Amino acid sequence: MRDLDAVFAALAKSAFQRRFALGVREGKYLREKGVETVVAQARELIGKRLAPQAPLNDGKQTPFRGHPVFIAQHATATCCRSCLAKWHGIAVGKALDDAERQHVVDAIERWLRAQLLPAGAKPADENPQRELPF
Ligand SMILES: [Zn+2]
Repeated sequence: MRDLDAVFAALAKSAFQRRFALGVREGKYLREKGVETVVAQARELIGKRLAPQAPLNDGKQTPFRGHPVFIAQHATATCCRSCLAKWHGIAVGKALDDAERQHVVDAIERWLRAQLLPAGAKPADENPQRELPF
């Protein structure tokens, strides 16, 4: 399992992962519910959709909108087991253990918290051009 700082440094260089940003609805949801609640939901979603030995529809189990955790998963390469293997060094074909689940939840939380910072407070490499919200 790779260190989260190393993973985030690599993700910041990926044009694919960098293009993800919360939509208006997901951003509003995150601010209204608060990070702690959304992180608790992340833990549950990961347990059901990513942690099993052979997750259902693996590779397609994470929608691209509708919940801030889904967006965070694409942005942090925790959306499916192949991304988890490629970026985070977590092997496929076995259920995630407690440390691996925590690593995934930490990645999601770190990304979500960064989204709540004002744009100017973010390092340049974590502040890609946002898509217009319409
Ligand atoms: Zn994936």
